[in-house]
Amino acid sequence: MMIKQSKIDTSILIVEDDPAIRNSIHEFIGMAGYKSFETSSAEEALEILKTNTIHLVITDIRLPGMNGLELTDLIKNSYDTDVIVMTAYIGDYSYEEAISKGASDFVSKPIRFEELLLRLRRVLRERNITKERALMLARLQDLAITDGLTKLYNSRYFYKQLDSEVNRAKRYNHPLTLLFMDIDYFKRYNDTYGHLEGDKVLFSIGKIIKSCLRKMDTAYRYGGEEFTVILPETNRGEVMTVAKRIKDAMENEKFSPQSEKSISITISIGATEYCPDERISTLVQRADKAMYLSKQRGRNQISTLFSDECP
Ligand code: GH3
Ligand code: MG
Ligand code: MG
Ligand code: MG
Repeated sequence: MMIKQSKIDTSILIVEDDPAIRNSIHEFIGMAGYKSFETSSAEEALEILKTNTIHLVITDIRLPGMNGLELTDLIKNSYDTDVIVMTAYIGDYSYEEAISKGASDFVSKPIRFEELLLRLRRVLRERNITKERALMLARLQDLAITDGLTKLYNSRYFYKQLDSEVNRAKRYNHPLTLLFMDIDYFKRYNDTYGHLEGDKVLFSIGKIIKSCLRKMDTAYRYGGEEFTVILPETNRGEVMTVAKRIKDAMENEKFSPQSEKSISITISIGATEYCPDERISTLVQRADKAMYLSKQRGRNQISTLFSDECP
């Protein structure tokens, strides 16, 4: 993965109150191939930042109103923009001060254009590397919690999310419900049509389940052909509505493992509700038990089991 930002897509804003210096830097940066903006004050710079995507600001420190260090501070707090600070007064403002405000680099006046260009290129290069790393990390984090076949979350993430939802339910005394689902006679399907066709079914069912959920609900591939759904802020009545929606959607879906065939697949569903102060394993086992009740009762149905009904 490469983030390639072309020069002309890179916008640089020059903040300098001396018109001769400002114009020459502006011209030079334009000639170097970057898109260049210019202004004489920090206040105007902030206005420009509000309406334009600026990747890099090159600012003087001594400015008529707000100074360049304060400007750097504001930019770093609100924008994803790098800052290079320039000044003639090395004695007044230390390099450390500029860096501590979040500046990426520092150049002293009189500005040598070749040096400015080198520093600017390095800042932009580091900026791209940082972005690539962040993207890669986000991808890895996604991979670590996603099931490769169904693209639902995996069981590791199920336990992590269940833990945080249980804590939330406890803290606010809000309801929390759980669905467990298992495909009926799936071994037979695999044996008849092959494992690859079985995989297609798993993928489709993942999509079907997702399409039946509300925004807050999350679906997981719990095991081979087992799925779970966590439903925060959802009581016993509401969980049945969601379960029925899934069951109906499954009945409406036809699978064609061989071109001439149109096969129905059903699932057995178990629903339960979190009972304050119980262990997570108790909750999970009860949901699993509810699902098995559906199997025992002939499959393709929804069974509930609540803590006050437990044997
Ligand atoms: P039941 O109605 O009792 O649930 O019957 P079943 O055949 O679905 O249950 P069983 O537990 O006996 O078999 C589950 C089957 O799910 C076994 C295996 O062939 C299939 N399976 C599990 N994981 C995968 C997978 O990743 N891909 C495919 N294609 N099949 C899988
Ligand atoms: Mg100045
Ligand atoms: Mg199973
Ligand atoms: Mg099964």
